[in-house]
Amino acid sequence: MRMNTHYSELKESYLFSEINHKVATFKASHPDADVIRMGIGDVTLPLCQASVEAMKEAVDEMGRAETFRGYGPEQGYDFLRDAIASYYAKKGVALERDEIFVSDGAKSDLGNILDLFDSQNTVLIPDPVYPVYVDTNLMAGRRIQFLKATVENQFLPMPPAGVKADLIYLCSPNNPTGAVYNRDQLAQWVAYANDQDAILLFDSAYEAFIRDPSLPRSIYEIPGAKTCAIEFCSFSKTAGFTGTRCGYTVVPKDLTRGEMSLNRMWLRRQTTKFNGVPYIVQRGAAAVLTEEGIRQAQQNIAYYMENAAIIANALRGLGIWFTGGENSPYIWMQCPEGYDSWKLFDLLLEKARVVGTPGAGFGSCGEGFFRLTAFGRREDAKRGMERLCGVYPR
Ligand code: PLP
Repeated sequence: MRMNTHYSELKESYLFSEINHKVATFKASHPDADVIRMGIGDVTLPLCQASVEAMKEAVDEMGRAETFRGYGPEQGYDFLRDAIASYYAKKGVALERDEIFVSDGAKSDLGNILDLFDSQNTVLIPDPVYPVYVDTNLMAGRRIQFLKATVENQFLPMPPAGVKADLIYLCSPNNPTGAVYNRDQLAQWVAYANDQDAILLFDSAYEAFIRDPSLPRSIYEIPGAKTCAIEFCSFSKTAGFTGTRCGYTVVPKDLTRGEMSLNRMWLRRQTTKFNGVPYIVQRGAAAVLTEEGIRQAQQNIAYYMENAAIIANALRGLGIWFTGGENSPYIWMQCPEGYDSWKLFDLLLEKARVVGTPGAGFGSCGEGFFRLTAFGRREDAKRGMERLCGVYPR
């Protein structure tokens, strides 16, 4: 028996278990402490009403013989794919229905897309990064070259001169840094990918948080992207679907390499290995994209973005360098001198009773930085930042 030994090359992900362990230990010795969680990457507001109503109706349909549905199309029902195409049309992007593939979330698709590519390909991945990109490639034994994201490049790495890459991951707005590429920067990436036949794997899971109308919310807003990019998106953060599960991936028909159409390959992959997202959930997702659904989802996002503004203003007041918080629910702050990210974690937990996420958990370039998130309650954002300001070393 030969096993996939690449699994033994994966580093254990200690980040969230270590955070939970430290918080539990602290609470055990300070049972009355009111600890504020400002590191969570999960949403806290409930589903919007439009979505709830649509799902209730869909449940009733499933309970009646005349409207019951069994297996659906693996790539998603037409009603949802058409709704997604209309959503893109509002961003000025024309997509055909069969360029859109509905899934149970961006994480699965980001991992599964690698079925389409040879394991000998070279992959460019920014550091720090959403860890799924790294681990899914390590599992297949692919070579990874890291792209350093730093204060100098504002955590937005640009194409490296002289490097030949096959697959390139970009995430904008970024988790964990909250940094967002502008149009000109994305145009440089598209030109670089088209020049060398590379493919951009563009993660737009946080596009709905972009407030600045000049910033692109889809890679396809950039001319030339349809011949070099696959886009992954999700209802998770857009509409609180982290537990409900629905996302989508766009694979343009113009995306070909040699004789092979990536759109056809992905269709084949999905129809072979995936049996679709529940009808009820797809009805809930389609409701998010109605005029009323968008309005309600945007209300929740506005609530989170107000939290982000509270966090960002407090950091500005302290003169701390940070990215994010304006077009993203994440705020990525520099640690004070003499503190690495775990030391800052310990200080904030012990002295301010505030929990964030140490940047070191997202890659070696994340050391020296700390992630705060806007997904909590308003009161907690306010109190958390007052406490942080009170103990912050100056
Ligand atoms: N992409 C990024 C950058 C994320 O931060 C997350 C979740 O935190 C995902 C994808 C996963 O999204 P989904 O819930 O759709 O699987």
